[in-house]
Amino acid sequence: MSDTIEKVKCLIIGSGPAGYTAAIYAARANMKPVLYQGTQPGGQLTTTNEVENFPGYPEGITGPAMMMELQAQAERFETDVRDGWITKVDFSGDVHKVWVNEEKEIHAETVIISTGASAKYLGLESEQKYLKLGGGVSACAVCDGFFYRNHEVVLVGAGDSACEEAHYLSKLCKKVTMLVRRDEFRASKIMAARVKNTENIEILFNTETEEVLGDGQVVTGVRVKNNKTNEAHDIPATGFFVAIGHKPNTDIFKGFIDLDETGYIKYAKPGTSKTNVDGVFVSGDAADHVYRQAITAAGTGCMAALDAERYLAAKDSTFEVSTSNYN
Ligand code: NDP
Repeated sequence: MSDTIEKVKCLIIGSGPAGYTAAIYAARANMKPVLYQGTQPGGQLTTTNEVENFPGYPEGITGPAMMMELQAQAERFETDVRDGWITKVDFSGDVHKVWVNEEKEIHAETVIISTGASAKYLGLESEQKYLKLGGGVSACAVCDGFFYRNHEVVLVGAGDSACEEAHYLSKLCKKVTMLVRRDEFRASKIMAARVKNTENIEILFNTETEEVLGDGQVVTGVRVKNNKTNEAHDIPATGFFVAIGHKPNTDIFKGFIDLDETGYIKYAKPGTSKTNVDGVFVSGDAADHVYRQAITAAGTGCMAALDAERYLAAKDSTFEVSTSNYN
């Protein structure tokens, strides 16, 4: 139990494009936002090399550089950006209680959840090595596929995301080899049929990844093994895409915030950022398993700040909705 409880008007949890955009809007609306960065400051984009699809960067920008710019923009309007990890919440009463690093207690009038989702990886040492080097391992075909135009790539996964990503890559790449660990897809029939009918996608069933091969800097291929015959072989490739699902970072909200069966936060009212708890809003990938883009996360971050501002104005007649966000 902390000695002193801090009271804040607007607490933002998470530091990806959703969190920082919410902060920019909340700060400009005099909500004096406090933003906790979490364990991966900058969010998923810090594992992306080049971002070429965020409007406003005609030459592209690296993921980490973009996140530093978003942080600087939020701080320019005096967002209080802090190191720290939210370890517990209690949204059962009128006051939204939040604990930082299991110690500090904060009471927030509004909370904006922007905790994102984490891509799942296979966990192979070689996969993690080339992921960290930015050398050809990716969990986002829409973000990184463009860098593999006319190349041969390998993609692992058999769900709807994998099929969607394989199909996306097939339009850019010379060849996509899809590794499916069982003898069937998990994806819906229509999505599976689409990849089966695409000429430059080769599907290897009962096939698992043994190792991502490389020259120490970049990926050069993938060693795979048929789990029925135990036969292994190498596939030449410059890109290794992992599409085995995402995990939304929402565990701490269980019991307070309505989640769907896979852990994504449910919107209480479609077309808004409202959750089932008054005064608690959500933005970004924590509630989005479909689009998962930096720009859509930023858009919902803006929505969450505007919804929080209106919530405060309705609750407290002395808090005026600002005009700056509508200019
Ligand atoms: P899913 O959990 O549906 O699928 C994950 C896939 O990855 C499964 O095929 C699974 O194999 C495979 N996998 C998991 N771990 C490993 C591993 N270690 N090695 C090899 N393969 C592995 O995740 P998705 O991201 O595809 O989809 C999540 C949700 O989003 C689903 O409900 C989906 O329908 C939905 N979605 C809908 C879309 C649409 O309608 N346009 C687009 C994208 C997603 P196995 O089958 O053997 O378990």
